Amino acid sequence: MVSAAAPVVFETDVVVIGGGPAGSTASTLIAQKGYRVELFEREKFPRFHIGESLIPETYWVLERLNMLPKMKASHFVHKHSVQFVSATGKLSAPFYFADNKPHECSQTWQVVRSEFDLMMLNNAREHGVNAHEGARVLDVLFEGDRAVGVKVQLEDGSHREVRAKVVVDASGQSGLLQNKFKLRVWDPLLNKGAIWTYWEGAYRDVGRDEGATIVIQTPNKQGWFWNIPLHDNRVSIGVVGPFDYLFKGRGDHEQTYLEEVALCPAVQERTANAKRVTGYFATKDYSYRAKEVAGNGWVLIGDAFGFLDPLYSSGVLLALKSGEMAADAIVEGLQASDTTAAQLGKWGPALNQGIDRMRRLVCEYYEGFSFGRFVKNYPHLKNTVTDLLIGDLFTDRVDAVWEPMETLYSEEKRAPKSWDAGTPEEIAANKLNELFLPDGPRP
Ligand SMILES: Cc1cc2nc3c(=O)[nH]c(=O)nc-3n(C[C@H](O)[C@H](O)[C@H](O)COP(=O)(O)OP(=O)(O)OC[C@H]3O[C@@H](n4cnc5c(N)ncnc54)[C@H](O)[C@@H]3O)c2cc1C
Repeated sequence: MVSAAAPVVFETDVVVIGGGPAGSTASTLIAQKGYRVELFEREKFPRFHIGESLIPETYWVLERLNMLPKMKASHFVHKHSVQFVSATGKLSAPFYFADNKPHECSQTWQVVRSEFDLMMLNNAREHGVNAHEGARVLDVLFEGDRAVGVKVQLEDGSHREVRAKVVVDASGQSGLLQNKFKLRVWDPLLNKGAIWTYWEGAYRDVGRDEGATIVIQTPNKQGWFWNIPLHDNRVSIGVVGPFDYLFKGRGDHEQTYLEEVALCPAVQERTANAKRVTGYFATKDYSYRAKEVAGNGWVLIGDAFGFLDPLYSSGVLLALKSGEMAADAIVEGLQASDTTAAQLGKWGPALNQGIDRMRRLVCEYYEGFSFGRFVKNYPHLKNTVTDLLIGDLFTDRVDAVWEPMETLYSEEKRAPKSWDAGTPEEIAANKLNELFLPDGPRP
């Protein structure tokens, strides 16, 4: 006999934890193949999230999700290019994605994430995903080393056990399984933080350049600003810098942000006639990855697997890509009744290789890499560097840039240390990614 206190038990094929871009992607693609998917999201959407600039290679996953008509009909700002401002204030020519790939995929979007994530979640529902909001996954249930489901607290406070053949952890930086199994490897080089706010009426270019992301290096080269034009005349402007530089021995987030703006004429010019419309947001933002992408019956995707410094706006692409790769492996596994770690995680090496390529470009920038100088020395490789910027990361072809890049190194400079060199235990123990949200309006 079942006791009155026992949780209600349900069965399904796949459970997905988290309704961000990674969770929505994986769940939609699995449901498209006719499998039953239950998705649990702890927040009620729309909810605030950072990560507003998409890059062109998201197009192919959005196409598989049937999201393109919705994106085209949306009011999201069209993004055609990225531009860099150097520490001396010099503005580079735009890297127009279409010059490289004359295809409609070269126009992407600057999105308000509360709206984009809701569109993605509703799209998952339209494809048959049973998505619950206000439903927090408390734990993943195991029998031996095999994940067999989750324990969830629903919106009304009741508890439920949901048994599944596969559990997909898409819980973002909460990293439910990464924490449970201590899988996190902190990047040895990328230890950053960010502070940002939203402006109304800040300077925007016009025409094709209106939606460009502008990456502005600070004059002291300690960090950089993102300038991301959003709809409704808003611009998201944030500063990224080494964690210690931004958060140790400085004032509050507002004071630090304003000090950084005061140091950076390119940002002052853009905000001179603008009104700030939110408070100040901040994150401690250490890059990391998990040692594994999967185990028996479980898979990690998106930020629940790894987070890479936001310099080139790759986060949503990696969430979509890992969601897609995982979904394909899960569907194949369900069809073959094989939900072992080997089957569910067979895409892990390819994902890691793709992230490594973007990470290398990120590390090179922090070590002084100049796109202008590189293109001047190797004009025939401009398209290949642009391929990396658009997120075309899953092909050996782009590796043609690394050796030429190294010829421009100073004598003492070396290629960046690999991510899995990790950080010493005593440093790792003090790391924790945290998000600080202001009171008041959030986009
Ligand atoms: C400062 C900064 C700037 C960035 N800029 C960009 C950018 O310009 N472009 C870009 O592409 N990316 C950017 N990113 C990265 C981007 O935000 C992430 O990579 C992306 O949101 C990852 O998507 P996800 O679905 O993996 O995780 P998330 O979007 O975080 O979704 C995870 C979801 O899981 C839910 N959840 C967590 N725990 C539980 C639980 N126990 N039960 C149920 N639900 C749970 C959360 O509520 C959340 O909704 C930036 C990141 C930072 C920090």
